[in-house]
Amino acid sequence: LTRKILIAMIAAILLGSLAQTLLAEAGADSTLRYVFHDLLSQGLFLLGGKLFVASLKVLVVPLVFVSLVCGVCHLRDQSSLGWLSLKTISLYLATTGLAITIALILASWWQPGAGVNMTVDGGYTPPPAMPLIDVLVNIFPTNPVQAMAEGKMLQVIVFALLIGVAIGRSGEPGERIGRHFNDWNEVLMKLVTLLMGFAPYGVFCLLFTLFAEQGIGKVGDLAVYMLTVVAALLVHGLLVYPLLLKTLSGLSPTVFLRKMRNVQLFAFSTASSTATVPVTLRAVEQRMGVKNRVAAFAVPLGATINMDGTAIMQGVATVFIAQAFQLDLSMLDYLTVILTAMLASVGTAGVPGVGLVTLALVLQQVGLPVEGIALIIGVDRILDMMRTAVNVTGDAMVSVVVANSENAIDKQTYNNIQAGEQQ
Ligand code: ASP
Repeated sequence: LTRKILIAMIAAILLGSLAQTLLAEAGADSTLRYVFHDLLSQGLFLLGGKLFVASLKVLVVPLVFVSLVCGVCHLRDQSSLGWLSLKTISLYLATTGLAITIALILASWWQPGAGVNMTVDGGYTPPPAMPLIDVLVNIFPTNPVQAMAEGKMLQVIVFALLIGVAIGRSGEPGERIGRHFNDWNEVLMKLVTLLMGFAPYGVFCLLFTLFAEQGIGKVGDLAVYMLTVVAALLVHGLLVYPLLLKTLSGLSPTVFLRKMRNVQLFAFSTASSTATVPVTLRAVEQRMGVKNRVAAFAVPLGATINMDGTAIMQGVATVFIAQAFQLDLSMLDYLTVILTAMLASVGTAGVPGVGLVTLALVLQQVGLPVEGIALIIGVDRILDMMRTAVNVTGDAMVSVVVANSENAIDKQTYNNIQAGEQQ
């Protein structure tokens, strides 16, 4: 499957870019435009891509809810939940802090914004970001059905935890319902596996449309900026995560990265950690052997609050914008950037492009012009895809480490390359 997705991805990028070149030269009502733009890019492939993302998204809420209730209700020692949450959240924050530090070091060294023209045409007004206090209050659901309908992940998690704890303490009736949830979990996981079979087509549709319509954006002055973001993402994804995994759990990073490939491809194509949750959850549970009680909690939580890739983009972007506007950042500013980018990462929803919205928070904290975002918006989509791949890798890495510390991982499954592989 991985190979098929990869082939689909490369074909879509090449054909999409070709279509874009042809379209740039085609007349307004030429046949070429009709075929590539109206019929394919904005017709068939747009529909295919949207259906693919929708089919993943539709599973997120039911899967997270069922899976988490399932995990918690079978927990023998429910008091360990607090400790588990504390460990998971601390690791998420620590890895984000590390990510942004790497980004700041690389950006100050490579100076991506040096010599960039700071004029901003059109300006940019950021949509208002939610104040932190509201983010915290919003964790507690007032109406679970509404929370599910609106896809408010943290609220769904809290509700599932409560129901799970109650089921676990309800004796015989609890056991009956618990078994029921188990069955639902199996069925939903099967659905994820079935849907993954369509991934090559879905990925092709998504990427063809993207590349035929906007290519990778106007790179120009932004080449060094993009390079710095990509380099920091690679360092974090391919060096920091494997090192942390090895040090904190002793498990093999090679096996981990290999089993993450599909998940990363999904994240890359959809640019959404949330839409990727079913695939991440499946990989972490079925391919890496992490027990449901840890995976079902850590993965969706990570997709909501852990955005290391996003923090990296925000770090580099902040330095870039400061340099483009010829403004100096002090040591204190750098520390402020680290702290606010960590908070912004918590407040960034796992959907495409939100990292750019919460970047406004970071810029405002250090007194940089928010209009600077307009400078980088043109190339953000492609970076969004890459950073989302890093975001989901972080979620899975922390889940594995926490599971290992809780004795909630089947190491035989983890080390078996074929485990959970899709037929
Ligand atoms: N697209 C990212 C994600 O879903 C969030 C962002 O950086 O915009 O993880």
